[in-house]
Amino acid sequence: MTYVFPPQAQTTLPVRGSDQLFPVNRVYCVGRNYAAHAIEMGHDPDKEPPFFFQKNPDNLLLEGNDFPYPEMTNDVHHEIELAVALKSGGDNIPADKAMDCVFGYAVSLDMTRRDLQGQMKKMGRPWEIGKAFEHSAPCSALVPATEIGHPTEGPVWLKINGETRQEGDLNQLIWKIPEMISYLSDLFTLHSGDVILTGTPSGVGPVMRGDDIHGHVAGVGDLRVKVV
Ligand code: MN
Repeated sequence: MTYVFPPQAQTTLPVRGSDQLFPVNRVYCVGRNYAAHAIEMGHDPDKEPPFFFQKNPDNLLLEGNDFPYPEMTNDVHHEIELAVALKSGGDNIPADKAMDCVFGYAVSLDMTRRDLQGQMKKMGRPWEIGKAFEHSAPCSALVPATEIGHPTEGPVWLKINGETRQEGDLNQLIWKIPEMISYLSDLFTLHSGDVILTGTPSGVGPVMRGDDIHGHVAGVGDLRVKVV
């Protein structure tokens, strides 16, 4: 059997210090996983727990590429996030086994068409047009956990043109990484190649064409992206 047309290319992420590529399966994102960000978005983190949404694997924008300001919006926001990349998966993974699934980590951005997301929220509609657009997930090379371990604390920040906009600490995550993997595996079958964006600290705001975005996650590294 042959394909009726050539399949789309497999999305991959580079692995720092290696010539091997990480083949990406799904991209899951956690919403409102830092209390200060939930509050800045008008929600009470004690009453509304974090939740999941998805981006498309081919929304990933690899390190070294510019972020093209997207269509149909006047309010694109930056969200700096730790990304977790899985080397194995399953269903109903207990939290105390979840870290065995982790291949490594990256610095990522959950770029958001906030105006469109806001309209969809008001209408009770899905968020895809606000979240899952082309190039909406800039991501650094993966750093294997065998090299850096599993970061659980330390600064997460984002600067625009050298000015700090977002600041938090990995120890402020409401759902910790093992809990996220465990919850997700109750809802979906997790697979090797899945990537989880773990939520953003407070300070989200708009970007403009020409901006230099510099994101940092403790223990993982840096991601620099220019908005064009
Ligand atoms: Mn986010």
